[in-house]
Amino acid sequence: MTRITLVQGDITDQQVDVVVNAANSSLLGGGGVDGAIHRRGGPEILADCRRLRASHYGKGLPTGRAVATTAGRLPARWVVHTVGPVYSAADYEGRAGLLASCYRESLGVAVELGARTVAFPAISAGIFGWPMEDAARIALTAVTGAEAGRGVLEEVRFVLFDGAAYETFERIW
Ligand code: ADP
Repeated sequence: MTRITLVQGDITDQQVDVVVNAANSSLLGGGGVDGAIHRRGGPEILADCRRLRASHYGKGLPTGRAVATTAGRLPARWVVHTVGPVYSAADYEGRAGLLASCYRESLGVAVELGARTVAFPAISAGIFGWPMEDAARIALTAVTGAEAGRGVLEEVRFVLFDGAAYETFERIW
């Protein structure tokens, strides 16, 4: 049985096999979680991202997809980069589907790598503007419903940066 856990903290501190990055499609860094992962993990992560751009994702990583790189100097073994959708009330259904896809695809990549433990941030709930409560509902539904990882992953951890995000996830859970 996969344990789902919630912690308040910084995703770059997590001692897990895979840390998931709320990346943007360029894979070349950004703010929020992305900035923290590249700062703390060092230049090896960006070097891997640049190779992926050159080899597979000339136009960038599509929204809802996930790819792995080294975790550089982070305590984790790999970073899985996924691109969340920007929030839009006018295009809600499609984008909510893409947000769920970020979680499923990231778990799929983690399982292919042989990971046992995975840490997620609240994808799209920062710069991309998704309301936290809805982001939490989509995240928890996607992870509990995912086929990938069932019976293989020991722990899927949500790492919430502030008390309000933590309390929202706890309430929805
Ligand atoms: P997005 O662009 O997908 O919205 P962000 O990185 O801007 O991604 O934010 C996603 C969530 O992660 C937000 O709730 C933000 O507060 C939180 N966050 C920012 N930095 C960290 C960090 N170092 N560890 C964990 N969560 C973080």
